[in-house]
Amino acid sequence: MFHVKPRVVAVANQKGGVGKTTTTINLGATLAAYERRTLLVDLDPQSNTTSGLGVERANGLSTSYDLLCGDATLSQSIHNTTFPHLTIVPSVPDLAGAEVELVGMVGREFRLRNVLAEAERNEFVFIDCPPSLGLLTINALTAAQGLLIPIQCEYFALEGVSELMKTVEEVRKYLNPGLQIDGVLLTMFDDRTNLAQQVAEEVREVFGDLVFESVIPRNIRLAEAPSHGRPIHAYDLRCRGAQAYLHVGREYLDRTEVAHGS
Ligand code: ATP
Ligand code: MG
Repeated sequence: MFHVKPRVVAVANQKGGVGKTTTTINLGATLAAYERRTLLVDLDPQSNTTSGLGVERANGLSTSYDLLCGDATLSQSIHNTTFPHLTIVPSVPDLAGAEVELVGMVGREFRLRNVLAEAERNEFVFIDCPPSLGLLTINALTAAQGLLIPIQCEYFALEGVSELMKTVEEVRKYLNPGLQIDGVLLTMFDDRTNLAQQVAEEVREVFGDLVFESVIPRNIRLAEAPSHGRPIHAYDLRCRGAQAYLHVGREYLDRTEVAHGS
């Protein structure tokens, strides 16, 4: 069941707080639990994926900042987590400076793509993007074969999505023609409200089959797990949030492994 190359997936939406980090951690950990070697790359200076997995920057090891702005190699930057098959390139707040430092660099959009060429021991690489369409996100979209878009089921859910799609078009045109949309994930769905249902319908009208059938419910356990440094299935396997991410993981494997012939 090994991919010839890892599938590199950017988890992006420039809107803040829509579930990018929660999805990176929990979908990544789910695939690792399904025994797919998975690398997470924390590309957000907020470093929530790093802290949410209880990872501290290890002495002597590098971070996503060093990968983009220094000359660290991928193998110098990969930290273990306490979970089998799951590793991470952590972020540090210094990464905020990368948006500025990268501007003056040759091949600035390709920095991440170049270093990730070394990631072949993994089946999946998930990149947690910051809430902006700056050079960090552009690096992720240039390095990725797939894009995963979490959309929160609330008012203005689709606000900004057209801007994201415009960026995807530009990236395809100038930087990464093969970029596909791997899926759109409805997050923080509250089935007690009509609003959530309406938003879900609207997103399905726009994105059709790209939207995962499984929906991530609003579930307090998902919000609690990061403060324990654990993905949801290691915190409360039976909760609705954990079950939902297990279902999305299964759907995701069905989509990508069939489509990419592994
Ligand atoms: P940012 O744009 O700031 O990086 P994000 O898109 O990465 O945000 P998250 O950090 O994953 O979003 O989620 C925002 C907040 O909502 C967090 O406090 C998270 O714990 C919480 N949250 C995410 N998903 C759920 C959910 N399904 N149910 C309840 N809370 C959730
Ligand atoms: Mg985040």
